[in-house]
Amino acid sequence: MNARDEKQMIPYYGGCHCGRVRFEVLAPSPLSVSECNCSVCTASGHLGLIVPKNRFTLQSGQDDLTEYTFNTGTAKHLFCKHCGIKSFYVPRSHPDGISVNARCLDAGATDDMEIIRFDGQHWEENYPEGRADAYPD
Ligand SMILES: [Zn+2]
Repeated sequence: MNARDEKQMIPYYGGCHCGRVRFEVLAPSPLSVSECNCSVCTASGHLGLIVPKNRFTLQSGQDDLTEYTFNTGTAKHLFCKHCGIKSFYVPRSHPDGISVNARCLDAGATDDMEIIRFDGQHWEENYPEGRADAYPD
């Protein structure tokens, strides 16, 4: 049995600050998240829990979300138009997936988590194919 098999997949819950946007995400315990140094992740304090779309369920707030895009426009930065918090978005590295901000998970979820640094300032060099070819474990 390797380390990957020992990780158990459990549901986590989170959302925006005002509570209109709420979601459930299935992810391993303990969590492994990505801390990216690109302009937008740094500014927003995003800690990326990146999952395939089928492990993410938006429970409420679809109509409260608004979108911001820049550069290639691939990433869809979704934030609550009431409280301004980006609790999840569609990342450029995984345009068919979701990057949840682990900081927006309910209390306790991030007590024990592994943070992996990603050099998003040199995005093209890290993803020469234009996207990631797999999801993190
Ligand atoms: Zn909100």
